[in-house]
Amino acid sequence: MNKLTPEVVNQIAAGEVIERPASVVKELVDNSIDAEATEIVVKITGGGIESIEVNDDGFGIPRENVDHIFDAHTTSKLKSIEDLNSLLSMGFRGEALSTITSVAKVSLTSRFTNEETGSKITFTEEGKSSVNSAAKEKGTSIKVEDIFYNIPARKKYLKSPSTEYRKIYEILSKYFLVYPNIHFVLEKDGKRVEDLKSIQNSKTGEISIERLKDIVGEEFTTNALKVFFAGSGISINGYISHPSLHRNKSSFNNIYINKRAISDKGIVRAVYEGYSRYLPFGEKIDFVLSISINPELVDINVHPRKEEVRFENPFRIYKAVEDAVKHTLEKELSYNKVEENRKTDFSMLRDTFNQKNTSSTKSYYEPTNSYQPKTSHSIQDSLLFSREILSQPKEEDIQEIQKEERQDIVKIFQIFNKYLVVEFLNEKLWIVDQHAAAERINFEKLQKREDITSNLQNLLVSTEIRFQKNEILFLEENREFFESLGFFFDCKDTTILIKTIPAEFSDTDFAKLFEEIFSLDENLSVLSKNFKKRKDDILATIACHGSVRAGQKLSTEEMLSLFNDLSKCDNPYSCPHGRPAIWKLNIEDIDHNFERTY
Ligand code: ADP
Ligand code: MG
Repeated sequence: MNKLTPEVVNQIAAGEVIERPASVVKELVDNSIDAEATEIVVKITGGGIESIEVNDDGFGIPRENVDHIFDAHTTSKLKSIEDLNSLLSMGFRGEALSTITSVAKVSLTSRFTNEETGSKITFTEEGKSSVNSAAKEKGTSIKVEDIFYNIPARKKYLKSPSTEYRKIYEILSKYFLVYPNIHFVLEKDGKRVEDLKSIQNSKTGEISIERLKDIVGEEFTTNALKVFFAGSGISINGYISHPSLHRNKSSFNNIYINKRAISDKGIVRAVYEGYSRYLPFGEKIDFVLSISINPELVDINVHPRKEEVRFENPFRIYKAVEDAVKHTLEKELSYNKVEENRKTDFSMLRDTFNQKNTSSTKSYYEPTNSYQPKTSHSIQDSLLFSREILSQPKEEDIQEIQKEERQDIVKIFQIFNKYLVVEFLNEKLWIVDQHAAAERINFEKLQKREDITSNLQNLLVSTEIRFQKNEILFLEENREFFESLGFFFDCKDTTILIKTIPAEFSDTDFAKLFEEIFSLDENLSVLSKNFKKRKDDILATIACHGSVRAGQKLSTEEMLSLFNDLSKCDNPYSCPHGRPAIWKLNIEDIDHNFERTY
């Protein structure tokens, strides 16, 4: 049997806290933040394997402590285990500095607020130096060199300097976003790569769009939707992608709990729940969410590098996140803000259509405010389209939009009895999935149906469907809901008689429709229990049955009305099940495909 020496024990423990140069950077920046720094300068050479330097203008370290802060379990932030419950500082275990000195060479110079001179201490292979006086302005500088120089087995596992640098940048960028009030400077191998001045009037923990723009770029920020939520002891702020920017991979999903960057699959899932009806299935978006909760309701001491937390009541957090995202999308994407004042005018559309079809002259309605796509990127095009939706026009602008909308269509036709092709004047082309579009339209109609007496149809002969007893009971239990949608029925022992339906459902196979509703959950009692939560799924199922189908031939009038109704939807991008409804192309995309440069 061998008893491990304290040195080896320390090095093993170090492995959990200090995995790679990026973990050193994280610990040092945490310390600067805890010291209330307003400016933090980080200098990296050789991917941090050679050296990492962090300088701050924080309150510094009292001379008498300089020696001790490198001892294991020495911290100025936590005295007893109870303190953990209310702690908001980034560090608290007092292990970072001691572990860093056990795996690298360290020198520290610091000047405490109330002291005249600075103090310096160094740790090398030979051990610890004594504390000396040193010239130092405000704050603390710490330099960490030659990481894992004394543990070759760990050093071997480090990646190339450029990979290690990327990992450092990844970690730093999370601080950049949640501390917009701190001025950050980053130098890489002697070159300044970031100089992020503090954002005026910004607050710690409040995501600032200006800082965000510097870090993640304009493609995201131009149309990012602002999230703000406060309630039930939780507040959430941040930004989420416009749903039209969905991709098969996201580039950042940043989550902060009380300003600490963490990962939490439950929260990510909750964000996507919030998006569920706005995104094609499986597609990803980006987001940055900063969540504040009472520190007593979250345990930050569950992960060696504090990258995960444990919530006392996770579902409360998840629900808040889902609601916050959902409300943001509903509020920000409401096309109907404009629609109240917009009257549909099919005859105008048709005139334009006919005119376009028979002559090549320019439209009779001169565009007054038509935009030209700036780039050939179809995403850009969607952005421009979305921007129209997002902006809330003034009264006089509404007229402009109406006008533009009417003259915009050059041609509309159907292909494969399945898709509509819509050509617009400004060299845009939409391909619309007619069934997905109709589903979306019906879904939103059902969601908003207020006056159920309009557009109902009494069946001359009631449709009779046989069901099982529990299914009948389910329908009876939720009769009010179905009636609010316009479905009126009588229940008998094992049959229902459908008497009245919304007119757009006149061709529907109700037996099939209800079967599909019944099978939304594993069984009916589960569905009953979840009824409230499943309402949108039920509406989506119903919407699917009242819809124009693939394979159905449409008249020009029907195509125009479908297109027009779709553009009035809150979210025209996807069907309620999340499949895309529109594919947008512009002339540059098509030219590009043919390698045409003129
Ligand atoms: P912890 O942050 O968990 O307390 P550390 O090992 O990271 O433990 O740091 C030990 C102590 O050293 C801190 O509690 C703090 O008092 C002091 N310290 C470290 N870095 C700084 C700094 N940049 N400015 C002021 N004090 C610091
Ligand atoms: Mg610390």
